[in-house]
Amino acid sequence: MYDVIVIGAGVVGPCISTALARQGKKVLVVERDWSKPDRIVGELLQPGGVKALRELGMIQAINNIEAIDVKGYYIQYFNQHLSIDYPLKEVAEVTNPINYLEKEIPLKSDNTINVEEWEKDSRVRGVAFHHGDFLQNLRSICKKEVDTMEGTVVKLIKKDDIVIGVEVKENKNNTTKTKKIYSKLVISCDGIYSKFRKEYSNNNPSINSYFIGLYLKNAKLPEKNKGHVLLGNHAPVLIYQVSPNETRVLCAYRSIKPPSSANDEVYKYLKNDVLPHIPKETLPAFTSALEDKKFRIMPNQYLSAKKQNQKGFILLGDSLNMRHPLTGGGMTVGISDSVLLARLLKSVDNFEDYDLIKDKLSIFHRKRKNLDAVINTLSIALYSLFAADKRSLKILQYGCFKYFEKGGECVSGPIGLLSGILPFPMLLFNHFFSVAFYSIYLNFINRGINFPLAIWECFDVLFTAIIIFTPYLWTELVQ
Ligand SMILES: Cc1cc2nc3c(=O)[nH]c(=O)nc-3n(C[C@H](O)[C@H](O)[C@H](O)COP(=O)(O)OP(=O)(O)OC[C@H]3O[C@@H](n4cnc5c(N)ncnc54)[C@H](O)[C@@H]3O)c2cc1C
Repeated sequence: MYDVIVIGAGVVGPCISTALARQGKKVLVVERDWSKPDRIVGELLQPGGVKALRELGMIQAINNIEAIDVKGYYIQYFNQHLSIDYPLKEVAEVTNPINYLEKEIPLKSDNTINVEEWEKDSRVRGVAFHHGDFLQNLRSICKKEVDTMEGTVVKLIKKDDIVIGVEVKENKNNTTKTKKIYSKLVISCDGIYSKFRKEYSNNNPSINSYFIGLYLKNAKLPEKNKGHVLLGNHAPVLIYQVSPNETRVLCAYRSIKPPSSANDEVYKYLKNDVLPHIPKETLPAFTSALEDKKFRIMPNQYLSAKKQNQKGFILLGDSLNMRHPLTGGGMTVGISDSVLLARLLKSVDNFEDYDLIKDKLSIFHRKRKNLDAVINTLSIALYSLFAADKRSLKILQYGCFKYFEKGGECVSGPIGLLSGILPFPMLLFNHFFSVAFYSIYLNFINRGINFPLAIWECFDVLFTAIIIFTPYLWTELVQ
């Protein structure tokens, strides 16, 4: 009998299983497909996620995959632009210091990562890579320390309303067998389309837009080692280099339905709505990727976490909680949650002590809120601003860009929040409403003698700011 069975070896499964195995627990990970996935998700890890990987002792998962250092963001707003750096290490060390779960396992230098440079840099760094390569590294670390199995978990086994194991469909030599495996605890990290979330909670995600992904070959970007965000009248576009030769582009598509595959709709959208805003140095690579027509589409979902109280069963990662991928925060939340959960379960000797686990889970739910509320709410609020499709949102979008241009705390606060280094929901509240009031002020200036119009718009902007922000922050903090 296992102490824990983990369902799914995506980003989060290997993290929590390795951490628990290192604490002396007998762990089995069941994954339906251990071969390298080819997905457009999880390719930029924020500094907060890098920190969590270090705490787990799994930072070497970013080694030997030609990962690219990320030092901040380049933001293009129509024909203006600005550059933002990630927070200073001295800030991170005070607000969110590293706290290793076990002993430190250091990052190594390789073809693309220079540890000496990382150490000398006064600022924290993020990293971008091919999702599949990163995942295979996480999986190979985990495989050395836990039992693994290839198969699809089709059912949870229950006794007296307690989950006591899983039923796995195994496909070997073209024959399918069903196996029952027992454990004291099952942790489900089965991702975005989680089967077990649907079964064990009435928490349903909502889709508010799509991302269309494409790869550029040998693209030139306006600034090296920066994530690029293109803003304007179009939906936001993200661009970041994921290997020395490849660059990921994610183009938001404002709809609750995916673009149709008929009549080249995606191609026409990218050509007519996105291409005109691509920076001139990136255009040749973008145009050639466009003509290749290798597009991938993913829904952008939102799901706030609910308190869990199913005995013997825990949801973790995207099965528990999702946010808009615009700010690249999903892996940061998932890996940080793995650190927190492992830390809380460390003192639990017997995973059949359901009352103790229930207490630990309510601490988990409370403690994770700071980071999770910041990253999730910010992702939704920024998407609303960056995808502005009405006057009040456009006023906020302009105000947001001008707020960043002021520099100082107007940049260090927001980037600290986005990067997972400042997990403080009230700081997010302050910055968000400072942007709203600054936007209103700029609108009065821009309207000039038409200021009566600005008075009406002032209420509209304030109302819009409240409805795109407050319900999400409230749900994240209170639910
Ligand atoms: C378009 C897009 C872009 C994104 N970009 C970023 C980004 O740049 N940075 C970032 O931090 N986050 C990003 N994210 C979010 C990030 O990808 C997720 O938060 C992260 O992958 C969640 O990890 P997970 O382990 O919970 O789920 P997943 O990584 O989805 O893993 C789930 C695993 O469970 C397995 N599985 C599922 N069901 C079963 C079953 N029944 N039995 C056995 N195995 C099963 C699957 O095969 C899979 O391996 C993005 C998301 C989207 C949609």
